[in-house]
Amino acid sequence: MAINYQCPRCEGQLLLDNHLILAVKYKQEQGMLLLMNPEVGNYQTIHHPTNKVHEGELYEFFCPICHYRLKSDLNNHLAMVHIQDEKGKQFELHFSRIAGQKSTYKIMGKSVEHFGIDAPHYIDFLNIFNMR
Ligand SMILES: [Zn+2]
Repeated sequence: MAINYQCPRCEGQLLLDNHLILAVKYKQEQGMLLLMNPEVGNYQTIHHPTNKVHEGELYEFFCPICHYRLKSDLNNHLAMVHIQDEKGKQFELHFSRIAGQKSTYKIMGKSVEHFGIDAPHYIDFLNIFNMR
C-alpha cells in the first residue's frame, strides 16, 4: 500500500487520515471535495451530502492545495497523481475522470499494473505503451 500521495506539480501531500483528498468539478457546477480510498483498486468515495455525483460523466480533478488540473498525458479521460510506496518507490497513478468508471493504472517506467473492472476500456493506450 502507498504511503504518500502527492500532487505532480506542487508535491503537496494529498493523503490525510487514510483519505486521498482531491477537488473535483463537473461542468459549470460548483466544485467539491472528493475523499477517495487510498487503496489502489478500491473505488469507495466520500463527498458532502449536498453535492451530487453524476454517474458516467467526465469530471475535472484538481489538486486541493495548488489547484493544478490533474491530467494524464496518456489519455484525456484519465487524471494522474504521484504515489510513493513504503519502500520509497515513486509511481504514477492514472485513474478515470469518469464518475463510476473503475479504471486505474499504476505506472513506473515501462511497468504497468492495472486495476478495476473497467481497466480494459483504455487497453488501446496500454498496448501502445507496452510496445514502446
Ligand atoms: Zn498541487
